[in-house]
Amino acid sequence: MSEPTRVLIFDTTLRDGEQSPGCSMNLKEKLEVARMLESLRVDIIEAGFPIASPGDFEAVQAIAETIRNCTVAGLARSIEKDVERAGEAVAKAEHKRVHVFCATSEIHRTYKLKRAKEEIVRMSVESVRQAKQYTDDVEFSPEDASRTEWDFLVEIVTAVIEAGATTVNIPDTVGYAMPAEFGDLIRHLRAKVPNVDKAVISVHCHNDLGLAVANSLAAVRAGAGQVECTINGLGERAGNAALEEVVMALKTRRDFLDTDTNIDTTKIYPASRLVAGVTGSQVQRNKAIVGDNAFAHEAGVHQDGVLKRRETYEIMKPSDIGIPSGRLVLGKHSGRHALKERVEALGFSLSNEQLDEVFEKFKALADRKKEVFDADIEALIDQQMASVTEVWRLDALQTIAGSNAVATATVTLSNDEQSFTDAATGDGPIDAAYEAISRITGVRLALTDFALRALTGGKDAQGEVTIEVEHEGRRYRARGLSTDIVEASARAYLVAVNRVLTATNGGQSKPTTS
Ligand SMILES: [Zn+2]
Repeated sequence: MSEPTRVLIFDTTLRDGEQSPGCSMNLKEKLEVARMLESLRVDIIEAGFPIASPGDFEAVQAIAETIRNCTVAGLARSIEKDVERAGEAVAKAEHKRVHVFCATSEIHRTYKLKRAKEEIVRMSVESVRQAKQYTDDVEFSPEDASRTEWDFLVEIVTAVIEAGATTVNIPDTVGYAMPAEFGDLIRHLRAKVPNVDKAVISVHCHNDLGLAVANSLAAVRAGAGQVECTINGLGERAGNAALEEVVMALKTRRDFLDTDTNIDTTKIYPASRLVAGVTGSQVQRNKAIVGDNAFAHEAGVHQDGVLKRRETYEIMKPSDIGIPSGRLVLGKHSGRHALKERVEALGFSLSNEQLDEVFEKFKALADRKKEVFDADIEALIDQQMASVTEVWRLDALQTIAGSNAVATATVTLSNDEQSFTDAATGDGPIDAAYEAISRITGVRLALTDFALRALTGGKDAQGEVTIEVEHEGRRYRARGLSTDIVEASARAYLVAVNRVLTATNGGQSKPTTS
């Protein structure tokens, strides 16, 4: 067998993914995700959109300074100030890229940019030249490429490569393309762009018709050398191509596609859990590769087959993507070392300090609950990461509720200076607790979604509350955990309050992007 062609994996979880409603991450969370992407061995991390806000700029800069083994990219529109900010933000990266985009389809030219074709080409070429002053590694995206006239696309792609673009990304910005058609477009560009060999052709597909991964694979088959994707398929609207699906399709069907990636697939599951945890955007149960049911065999005939020989119904092994084998259960007598081993088996690497904090919480949990499962440990790690940015901490919560009682909550919260206690009544104990928290913190949130689930089996299972709230036109997601569901609800609400108070982009809405 000949060596398969390497396809570059460009992860945009921190840019396109972070842009999806309610999925904003703070600086610490972004760094944690970036480190995970580095251990996953993605080729390029798109760290953010530096012009969007000072917070975005700082995050891209911090990631550029931290990550050594991946290229770090910053996004910019074809505007001088944008390119300048992106170039400055990635300046300290070991490997840096500036990614410039400009819309090219007729509908975007006419209604969004109000510019003629010649002007679009001129702006694009100028911004690629400007980006070249910061790094040799420049990517250009003609936004809404899949709805752009093919001959115009050939013209602009040729021009930006001539100007020095080393990667040209073809986005299906609105998720409109069909696989065969999108493959033909890539083939067309490879045949008609005279200098196409001087750049890598990339694709960036959205999932509005559920075809993002299929379109990306069709493009790879047609010669695309880079796929842009996100963990769990996070992203604008219906999301982007899911990294885990693209990577596992390429790996599992190497016989057909004759391509491979540099990804360490055993880090896929931990990466998926981490991103779900920090964004509060849970993975659907039947999601390909990383959903809870992805490797669950329910039908008797399937179970029988799998027990006799795994491959009868399984095309991948759970261990390929890093799902820990064996459900080792920890308890109150488990020591720090046992916890450390389990944390590592789950794919997390914590500093000694972080492990100490998680161990403290683990002991407290083991006192309340007999058996501590993997899901509990993952949740403790997620909480530990969020806890550093706590503006307000929950010190005490007491509620009174019943069928004939007025629900009352007494809450004690503290910040770095002092602690405050207040009480409130409400329509049930959760409502009362939320009211008391709002009164103390002065942050009033509109609750738009509330979900409760048991993290594991068992009567003493931890309840996980995931909420979505709205504050000044922006949405935030948060989750809280406790063996007591009222406390879990209060914790989720407090995390949301803290997110509002520490939002990286200070409530500004971001410019729209591809
Ligand atoms: Zn996008």
